[in-house]
Amino acid sequence: MRILKTQTLRGPNYWSIRRNKLILMLLDLEELTEKPSNELAGFYDGLAQVLPSLIEHQCSRGYRGGFLERVKEGTLMGHIVEHVALELQELAGMPVGFGRTRETSTPGVFNVVFEYVEEQAGRYAGRAAVRLCKSVVETGTYPARELEQDLTDLKELCANTALGPSTETIIKEAEARKIPWMWLSARAMLQLGHGANQKRIQATLSNNTSILAVELACDKEGTKTILENAGVPVPQGTVIEYLDDLEQAIADIGGYPIVIKPLDGNHGRGITININDPSEAETAYDLASKSSKSRSVIVERYYQGNDHRVLVIDNKVVAVAERVPAHVTGDGQSTVKELIEITNQDPKRGDGHDNVLTKITIDPTSKAVLAKQGYDLGSILPLGTVAYLRATANLSTGGVAIDRTDEIHPENLWLAQRVAKVIGLDIAGIDIVTSDISKPLRETKGVIVEVNAAPGFRMHAAPSEGLPRNVGASVLEMLFPNNAPSSIPIVAITGTNGKTTTTRLTAHIYRQTGKIVGFTATDGIYIQEYLVEKGDNTGPYSAGAILRDPTVEVAVLETARGGILRSGLAFDSCDIGVVLNVAADHLGLGGIDTIEQMARLKGVIAETVKPGGYAILNADDPLVAAMAAKVSCKVAYFSMNPDNPIVSEHIRRNGLAAIYENGYLSILEGKWTLRIEKAVNIPMTMRGMAPFMIANALASCLATFAQGVDIEEIRRGLRTFEVSSEQIPGRMNLFDLGEYHALVDYAHNPHGYLAVGDFVKNWQGNRIGVVGGPGDRRDEDLILLGNISARIFDSILIKEDEDSRGRKPGEVADLISKGICQENPNINYEIILDETEAINTALDRAKNNNLVVVFPDKIAQAIKLIKQRLN
Ligand code: ATP
Ligand code: ATP
Ligand code: MG
Ligand code: MG
Repeated sequence: MRILKTQTLRGPNYWSIRRNKLILMLLDLEELTEKPSNELAGFYDGLAQVLPSLIEHQCSRGYRGGFLERVKEGTLMGHIVEHVALELQELAGMPVGFGRTRETSTPGVFNVVFEYVEEQAGRYAGRAAVRLCKSVVETGTYPARELEQDLTDLKELCANTALGPSTETIIKEAEARKIPWMWLSARAMLQLGHGANQKRIQATLSNNTSILAVELACDKEGTKTILENAGVPVPQGTVIEYLDDLEQAIADIGGYPIVIKPLDGNHGRGITININDPSEAETAYDLASKSSKSRSVIVERYYQGNDHRVLVIDNKVVAVAERVPAHVTGDGQSTVKELIEITNQDPKRGDGHDNVLTKITIDPTSKAVLAKQGYDLGSILPLGTVAYLRATANLSTGGVAIDRTDEIHPENLWLAQRVAKVIGLDIAGIDIVTSDISKPLRETKGVIVEVNAAPGFRMHAAPSEGLPRNVGASVLEMLFPNNAPSSIPIVAITGTNGKTTTTRLTAHIYRQTGKIVGFTATDGIYIQEYLVEKGDNTGPYSAGAILRDPTVEVAVLETARGGILRSGLAFDSCDIGVVLNVAADHLGLGGIDTIEQMARLKGVIAETVKPGGYAILNADDPLVAAMAAKVSCKVAYFSMNPDNPIVSEHIRRNGLAAIYENGYLSILEGKWTLRIEKAVNIPMTMRGMAPFMIANALASCLATFAQGVDIEEIRRGLRTFEVSSEQIPGRMNLFDLGEYHALVDYAHNPHGYLAVGDFVKNWQGNRIGVVGGPGDRRDEDLILLGNISARIFDSILIKEDEDSRGRKPGEVADLISKGICQENPNINYEIILDETEAINTALDRAKNNNLVVVFPDKIAQAIKLIKQRLN
């Protein structure tokens, strides 16, 4: 058994629309192809013993133990690997459940698909599952230490990529509100929402957070001054830069007890509190000075009381926590060291910020703090006695947090809200020292010690005691008040042919509304008429570029099969999903061998439309029309046939449709026919002579109409959409060369040839074809191109692409000529492999009223050759 390929799917895909974070492994079972599990001696027992928790997997049976039952009765190894990969992740603390295993057209080679939480961990789980299964097959077991190592590695991979606790609080809430989110590529910035409606966060800084406010908050002395001037109680203190000034400073603030801290510190670093004599003060000065970038040190009065953190978001107090420094409580027999070990066994305690609480560390600081209380690590604490290991209450140094949100006094609430506003922070963590937060600071002589920008949420979302507070919700409410839109309209367009044309037309119509439109297509990423990036941009990367762009108000995304297959869509849902057609092209690539499989793949677009949106389906294409049964949104159909029965039935039920009737492109809305425009007035339809262009236009009309675009604007768009070789090179570009005409079109599969054929057949005069086909298509597809060519042309030149895509030179041309001869052995045809030479020959031969049709590989070059002959 061997892994041939591993892919990561990150959005709606062929295998699943909703549970779409999937690992896809192409697995060759090799010697195990013919061996179901019941024929492998000892396998069932071995597996059940190595991973007893597999008993929980129901599999298709739908009850506990179902999967193991199937292993006992006999199932293939691909299926078992899938379940093991899921279970390994589950055991490492990543809940997953979805999996599928299907044989490909190559016997013994399977697609094994399973869910992941963290991508790298998912890929690892796949490899480990194969290792584990192989070992059970060969030796009847898998060594316990190897399993343990796998789980350790998996946990580590998960922890490495896990979000910080504050970010996670916000993201969980965003997901609950169905607000899309994505990482930006730098500075750990996250985007919430799409396009012009996006917001950004970085930990608990938001795009509303003012840099002035952050810098003020980071300047503790400046903060105190501003607050003091606003009548807010703050510690009395002063700033010094030299040890020589210490004595005077202490005297100035009225003597001991005092606190010394760095001017610009955080996380409690470099702080000594409750200092009572000069030698202590000197040590504290050194510590603080070393931790300060500016070497400046704050000397201030020590205020008795407990430490409180008040979280203010968008000018409202949303949570209050009391923070207690790292401590242990005596049991009358254990030493302080032992008590620390016991405390650290709490599974809630992790290293650093990655857990609800942090482990208590033993270091010089903790020893010094102990000494001050008259203890050392060996002291046995009397029952119930508390020994502190830190003077400050930061969670990251082992402190705990108790929720006090319901207890804060209204006056303190008012004060905190006012302080946040005075400093100017949208998200502020205010540190208050007071003996009792339920009494006004005025009465307890409490003080506001500092104001934090980017405060941690961990102590509020997961306090060690008291009610957890959904502070993430307050952030989202601030960023997207009253369900303000977070996304932008997304129109996704797929099909075998016509995607680029329909995408460009849809974008063009949308632009008539004055909106800023971003679109992706085969030739590039565009915003308005500007090219952002050149190249084939029909996959999730390009879609992501548009969805990330803060200027884009509407996204129109050409979405080709390749991207959906390789990594899934870049969005979890769209507003409009257009499926133009499904024809035999690209079959045999990426495990998609039949046209039905291709339909399922393209159907992903329709199935991804959100409930209020529309799937826009071609009623003339049975495979596309059938997608209606699988969608969870509304459906609108388009058809070239006014009497299409699917459309008639849909209209009878008050549905929405677009049809071509009496020379008009019309929208049908219930019993009303809204005529948009006559085909002859729409340039792209070649005066109505190119039926497939009418079909593409109908799809665009429906897509925009369903989004509320005015008929007037749709009409204007249709009339002004140019198909010139400048605007859309290679899409039905017709050139008048005086004596004869030339048409350049990018048709490259039978369906496209037929479509262009419908136009060519209308031509009065001889038709010369310059034809070819991509080398990676199946033999029968290339032969079919020959058949069709023989039907639509009077004479034919066969040429080949420069990139033969794996075939020998001449092979493609031979297959096409075979097709030509099958259809019409008497037709005049010739093979000229070089495209330029073939085009020139055809143009040289063209005479009176001929039409030369070029299906080029190199569109720009073909257009250039023709343009050289203009006048
Ligand atoms: P953090 O980043 O966790 O907010 P920090 O390094 O910015 O910490 P401060 O908030 O200024 O430092 O101080 C840390 C803690 O020390 C306070 O929360 C408070 O408990 C205590 N503290 C600081 N100054 C005083 C003071 N003047 N009187 C009493 N306690 C104080
Ligand atoms: P690609 O997969 O290469 O990106 P596409 O789906 O984006 O193609 P377009 O670029 O719009 O398609 O059109 C390519 C060619 O396909 C056209 O020049 C035409 O020959 C043919 N075509 C376009 N629309 C249709 C249609 N609705 N039905 C059949 N053929 C079409
Ligand atoms: Mg603080
Ligand atoms: Mg395209």
